[in-house]
Amino acid sequence: MTALITGASAGIGREFCTVLAAEGHDLVLVARDSERLHATKAEIEAQFAGITCEVLPADLSVQQELDRVVERLASQEKPVNVLINNAGFGLNQNFVSGDIAREKYLLDVLVTSVMHLTHAAANTMKLNGGGDIVVISSVASFIAGGTYSAAKSWNTLFAESISEELRGTNIRISALCPGFTHTEFHQRAGINKKTVPTWMWLSVDSVVREGWRDHKRGKAVSVPSMRYKFLVALIRLLPRATVRRINHQVRNRPKH
Ligand code: NAP
Repeated sequence: MTALITGASAGIGREFCTVLAAEGHDLVLVARDSERLHATKAEIEAQFAGITCEVLPADLSVQQELDRVVERLASQEKPVNVLINNAGFGLNQNFVSGDIAREKYLLDVLVTSVMHLTHAAANTMKLNGGGDIVVISSVASFIAGGTYSAAKSWNTLFAESISEELRGTNIRISALCPGFTHTEFHQRAGINKKTVPTWMWLSVDSVVREGWRDHKRGKAVSVPSMRYKFLVALIRLLPRATVRRINHQVRNRPKH
């Protein structure tokens, strides 16, 4: 069994490495920073005897580098039976006043690469009789909260739609939609974590364990934790305009 994880060097992707290695999967580790991937490989191989990790450095926004990951997923030599589409980041900029090149970069990584990788993986899994694909989306996918939300909405609807297309096959696909989770995400995006109330934070291990358990139970969309399940249910009940406005006010309130 082999799992390919994008964004394997940190946060949610790194936690998936531990969970999948513990289940006996060899790993293919994808991210940009080759040194960190080699460090992850060394940690996983030391922790889990018999597990081997391949390091596949790639910037998923660069077509030739994405192609190398697609090629690995299409390979029948040591077929990949689990794909975790996880690599991602936030922009923390307004659209109109923001840098359009960064917007394209966001879509390339969060949307285009997920589409190509999922297509390649699902076709290999079809030939091999089954497999599992997870798309790490976000609770932000249920809110109109900027272009990150728009990209994450695509992630959730994409996984949900393809799960119907694959019904009756042995290929499962799901969207994992975490709320605020302690990782490097906010520091990288320049978001001050202190502006988010303590109760809204989740631990990375609880997010990954609950999301992976939901996936294996056949859920197309997983929202880890009771508090975020409740929040998403509330978002669905309230008029969209109300949710939009509350979110806009929260995002634009003065930050101390
Ligand atoms: P993180 O700790 O910052 O990890 C991000 C990972 O993605 C790193 O391994 C990074 O490695 C990799 N990555 C970033 N840009 C890449 C690129 N262009 N090509 C290849 N790899 C790239 O963030 P995280 O919180 O674990 O984020 C994982 C996913 O969860 C993302 O899709 C994010 O949107 C989603 N999410 C996070 C939260 C949260 O609160 N943390 C909530 C909801 C959803 P390199 O820098 O070496 O490339």
